[in-house]
Amino acid sequence: MVDLVGQYQKIKKEMDEAVINVIGSAAFINGPEVNNFQKALAQYLGAKHVIPCANGTDALQVAMMALNLKPGDEVITSSFTFIATAEVIALLGLTPVLVDVLPDTFNIDPEAIRKAITPKTKAIVPVHLFGQCANMEEIMAIANEHQLYVIEDACQAIGAEYTFRDGSVKKAGTIGHVAGVSFFPSKNLGCYGDGGAIFTDDDALAAQLKVIVNHGMTVRYYHDYVGVNSRLDSLQAAVLRVKLNYLDEYTAQRQRAADYYNRAFADNAKITTPVISKNSTHVFHQYTLILNHTNRDGLQKYLNDKEIPAPVYYPVPLHLQKAYIDPRYSEGDFPVTEKLCKSVISLPMHTELDEEQLNYIATAVLDFVNQE
Ligand SMILES: *Cc1c(COP(=O)(O)O)cnc(C)c1O
Repeated sequence: MVDLVGQYQKIKKEMDEAVINVIGSAAFINGPEVNNFQKALAQYLGAKHVIPCANGTDALQVAMMALNLKPGDEVITSSFTFIATAEVIALLGLTPVLVDVLPDTFNIDPEAIRKAITPKTKAIVPVHLFGQCANMEEIMAIANEHQLYVIEDACQAIGAEYTFRDGSVKKAGTIGHVAGVSFFPSKNLGCYGDGGAIFTDDDALAAQLKVIVNHGMTVRYYHDYVGVNSRLDSLQAAVLRVKLNYLDEYTAQRQRAADYYNRAFADNAKITTPVISKNSTHVFHQYTLILNHTNRDGLQKYLNDKEIPAPVYYPVPLHLQKAYIDPRYSEGDFPVTEKLCKSVISLPMHTELDEEQLNYIATAVLDFVNQE
């Protein structure tokens, strides 16, 4: 699904130098590279504060801890997402309230959010799924109306841009009160291990986030809060600082690959290509198709036999995951999510796909669906 070796080969000299410098400096934890990267990322995003941490899951957890959410508080999120989003809500003793997604963008449905609000609701976690922003204009309006926090799960959408009705443009992760991103190797801005960051424009919240990621420590060995140990190490920060310079180029390469697929599958009744919302750019963390009246397992096997990976993101909705079975929900509650889980399939999407590979993949998909 990704070609991290091919990507590395093109920036090898620069990358090796950056990594060797960190090793030579022996400043592995909280070294100058961490500070340099966090400043560079804040500038790229137009965010006031970037707080690095160990991974995207921690980013979301720490964000919820800093907002002082209490056990029993309800947090609304999407039923069609990676598990991490709901996992941290559950771990903190908060109550995940799931809502359905929109059939075109796969992002959380604002109308469904409105219906799910109760006096216990404290926050909304929109997930910018597969690389495009949820309807943030509407979500922020709902949040303001009901005085709720918005925690963006921007793990899949770094670099995506959202345009508001007044023409202003903001990057994914800089719209809500706080946001989490992941630098997992296969993410759009990936390091060579685990990494993550939290963004906010709120000074007081940023101060709180910095304390929580560092054992709740305000002054050395004085712990005013229960915190966690969640650090981005200097080697990963050095890797990320090199790659950040290429992020826009990488995004453009993903968008070119998506264009190729879109053209290849246009007008094929059995394939619905990704719908791009009019307010957000799409950075194509995943290129995900909906199959209509086509044997998905058959297609997946056909592609795999040709050495084309074709995973399903995600095969099981959150409310039907064993660990999250809840008497409040049952099968049929989130029809859009449930239908997507049965009909989506993702194709290889990364920065190193050339025409020959794209042609090979698209031809294989079409050969299968047309002969069915
Ligand atoms: C990757 C991802 C996460 C978690 O990130 P990690 O760095 O793997 O912990 C959370 N939410 C979404 C939507 C993701 O895609």
